[in-house]
Amino acid sequence: MIKTRRLNIRKRIALVAHDNKKKDLIEWAEFNKVVLAKHELIATGTTGKLMEDQLDRPVKKLLSGPLGGDQQIGAMIAGGEIDVLIFFWDPMEAQPHDSDVKALLRIAMAWNCIMACDRSTADFVLTSPLMQTEYTLNIPDYSTYLKRKID
Ligand code: PGA
Repeated sequence: MIKTRRLNIRKRIALVAHDNKKKDLIEWAEFNKVVLAKHELIATGTTGKLMEDQLDRPVKKLLSGPLGGDQQIGAMIAGGEIDVLIFFWDPMEAQPHDSDVKALLRIAMAWNCIMACDRSTADFVLTSPLMQTEYTLNIPDYSTYLKRKID
């Protein structure tokens, strides 16, 4: 059985950037300012503050990533509260919260969350015509997995 989730025209976009990638995210956000204005933005603490300053608009700020913000976003993805994840993670530097980074990437995949981890992919995602329409997302059916756990 295929399970689906309806994405509204106004998408809920989560933004996370590691410190060495924050400049990239700021430039990307400026480049995509007009499109971003049409959507709801959620971010980890420091990233959210930078986005608010750059875009001059409110952003829902969670905890800073290393303090639990990545996990909060992961929980929102699992709960169907995030439609798109823009996650500029740093492939060149270990993070104190590497386990949380891995967990966020995994949970985003587990729920077929639309995800971009670099500027050009994020540009393509944001300029997709599907960003301006409703969209039905297929989500994996985990009922067999759940049944296995109970049996
Ligand atoms: P920050 O967190 O936006 O609070 O810096 C990002 C991260 O490292 O996950």
